Amino acid sequence: MTTQPATVPATTPAAPPAADLVAAFRRALAMTTTDGREAPAARAALRAAAEACRGPLAERWAATQAKDAARGKDQRRVHYLSMEFLMGRAMRNALAALQLEPALRDELATRGVSLADVLESEPDAALGNGGLGRLAACFLDSFAELGLPSFGYGLRYRYGMFAQGLQDGAQVERPDDWQRDGTHWDFERADVAFVVGFGGHVESDAGGTRRWVPAERVRARAFDFVVPAHAHGHVATLRQWEASAEQPIDFAAFCRGDYAAAGAAQLAADTLNWVLYPDDSTEAGRTLRLKQEAFLVSASLQDLIARHLAEGRPLAELGRGNAIHLNDTHPALAPAELMRLLVDEHGLEWTEAWAITRQAVAYTNHTLMPEALETWPVAMVERLLPRHLEIIYRINHEFLSDVRTKAPGDDALVQRVSIIDEQHGRRVRMAALAVVASHQVNGVAKLHSDLMVETIFSDYARLYPERFTNVTNGVTPRRWLQQCNPGLSNLLDDSIGTGWRRDLGQLSALRAQAGDAALGQRLAAVKRANKEKLAERIRRELGVVVDVDSLFDVQIKRIHEYKRQLLNLLHVVARYQAMLANPAGPEGQGWTPRTVVIAGKAASAYVAAKQIVRLATDIGRVVNSDPRLGGKLKLVFLPNYGVSLAESIIPAADLSEQISTAGTEASGTGNMKFAMNGALTIGTWDGANIEMAQHIGEDDVFVFGLRADAVANLKAVGYDPRWIAAQNASLKAVLDAIGSGAFSPGEPQRYRALVDGLLNRDTYLLLADFADYVATQSRVDVLYRDPKAWNASALRNIAGMGFFSADRTVAEYAAKVWSVPGAAKAAKTNA
Ligand SMILES: *Cc1c(COP(=O)(O)O)cnc(C)c1O
Repeated sequence: MTTQPATVPATTPAAPPAADLVAAFRRALAMTTTDGREAPAARAALRAAAEACRGPLAERWAATQAKDAARGKDQRRVHYLSMEFLMGRAMRNALAALQLEPALRDELATRGVSLADVLESEPDAALGNGGLGRLAACFLDSFAELGLPSFGYGLRYRYGMFAQGLQDGAQVERPDDWQRDGTHWDFERADVAFVVGFGGHVESDAGGTRRWVPAERVRARAFDFVVPAHAHGHVATLRQWEASAEQPIDFAAFCRGDYAAAGAAQLAADTLNWVLYPDDSTEAGRTLRLKQEAFLVSASLQDLIARHLAEGRPLAELGRGNAIHLNDTHPALAPAELMRLLVDEHGLEWTEAWAITRQAVAYTNHTLMPEALETWPVAMVERLLPRHLEIIYRINHEFLSDVRTKAPGDDALVQRVSIIDEQHGRRVRMAALAVVASHQVNGVAKLHSDLMVETIFSDYARLYPERFTNVTNGVTPRRWLQQCNPGLSNLLDDSIGTGWRRDLGQLSALRAQAGDAALGQRLAAVKRANKEKLAERIRRELGVVVDVDSLFDVQIKRIHEYKRQLLNLLHVVARYQAMLANPAGPEGQGWTPRTVVIAGKAASAYVAAKQIVRLATDIGRVVNSDPRLGGKLKLVFLPNYGVSLAESIIPAADLSEQISTAGTEASGTGNMKFAMNGALTIGTWDGANIEMAQHIGEDDVFVFGLRADAVANLKAVGYDPRWIAAQNASLKAVLDAIGSGAFSPGEPQRYRALVDGLLNRDTYLLLADFADYVATQSRVDVLYRDPKAWNASALRNIAGMGFFSADRTVAEYAAKVWSVPGAAKAAKTNA
């Protein structure tokens, strides 16, 4: 096979004429509705609109693939492996890319349907849990915009992250059946399928070559979820794998009438795609999870090798032509599987295969919490993946001999860095495997990358310092500014021109205008309109009326103790008590009205996090109905947090709560979305908050609390939360109220354990940071009462956020980690 010509034909099609798309919409609608005269249901209109977009998207996809293939032997493709892609909705992005929105809006209007209702009827593809999965989705958007030759690889989950409901204020979980009406944006690739094995044993052939004979074999089928660019015709791909049995039905069992046995193989294959995180409290759940990881890795690597060979390139160039990125350790079996494919299936020598693997693989770490680092029992790996275990042993053996030559006699070091943990019943440390196999390992914000090499990876960093680097996260400004906040986007166009839409760095031009009071007022008017919409949603969903002119104080993110939603609640209760004790407000100035909005899901088995959700709703019930407050304090918990809910809340926020214990939040990306939309941040010196403050200017961020080094010191010398509570009368009153049932009169003991946990351990130092947090909230109140100063600060916040575009982040990965030439330039000039 010959390589493609190096000259690339122009393949970026112009957006098809809107009239063609409207005609396609009409045809599709005629095929889905039963009665052409009635106004179609929003979902039927959604399906028809998606159908109309699919044709041009498919053409763009094919053109993109042809263009990438034609780049010839100098090209390098990026393969981004992730167990999570938190995509959210896709329709608005497709309409923007195809410039179809105005025409579709008009067409729908003639049928008595509003575009907003149609967009709102699209279910979120919630195939992720939180920031890690949303990062992967933002990256796909930037892959498209940068025209980066790439594939995202994930699993096609049947059910997304659970749907969260509230019952008596407590979280209940329901399955999230996002595919119920079918899917709109993925294309099945009937010609792409690979076999993935599990279990069985390993044999040696006559020449001594090891060969795996799996006991169970499933087929991986490819579905491509397409993500179009706005500025040109490039389309990024998320290839999602779906498992099916090689023999979907055991016909003999079927004829016997044993239908369960007849379908058992298909059922086993189906379970691989059921849910994102099988409950890992059972052996079956843990086994399923490991199988999912192996399935993702094997199918993706077979696919990329097949593509490489189909393009006529020799296997020896596989590492040069392909970057393989591990989004956290979930796909960290990749190096072992790649070695198996290269050595066992393609006959390469171990040394050459290892050089290829090292050249290709890189890994992003997302957490420093030792308990969150993934490990698997050796026995389980041996049972499911016997050949992979042999390969891991050999990788480890060669790695440890290298360590022994570098640090002779240091057996303790060898134990600490070994891929096999011998202390806890023999387990495979996935992070160690990822570090050993990668040529680059990065953290996701500067502080996190620094702490990564000082703490969990310090031994590796001493041995291989050149391997470690930082790439600070970013978010896609298409979804998180242009689409979610058209009012602000138009205002930006008016004040600094439209260049920021292609190059977010141009937001900095706003800084010079931050003192312009008229501009500040226009910004406030945009914000107020967004707040009105959110207030309406709160009224509709929760029956709570909130004051649109109050300060909207927002914390939305996964519920986790380290993110300290509980600290936020302590402040709400402190404020509540202070308002009752002193109705005239601090210094007789009155109380700045506040609406505190919290949203987030608690993992189903995480008892403490679920308690926090319940406490938030309990406090809200009391506070929201207390007439003595005159409506000046409200607390609402909006259920079922996800991408779409975030898109509706963030543009309406005045204040963004980023209050994790310093040293615990790897980066955060929610913090970025808020500041981009003109919210001010109250936050700790943690994760990307630090770099945000540096880009925005520290005077325009409300920073409080202990810094990471002080947190570590305090823990080292011995932290006594009870002593802190005893010193602070207001804090003590807050804890007493919560602990004695002031917000749960029907069950006074409901939060006793939660409060005792704070007084006895307070692992995340809420009490240590409480006083400074409350004092800083008072400074927020003061600034909010001065709209001119507040608006100027909000403008400076927006102006400083250009750096936090995922386009910049991806360009940095391309240059520093993936060695893809030209992508950094493309980030600026692809427009
Ligand atoms: C951005 C985002 C996150 C990450 O938020 P953090 O505040 O950084 O934890 C999680 N979930 C969704 C739906 C998001 O959009």
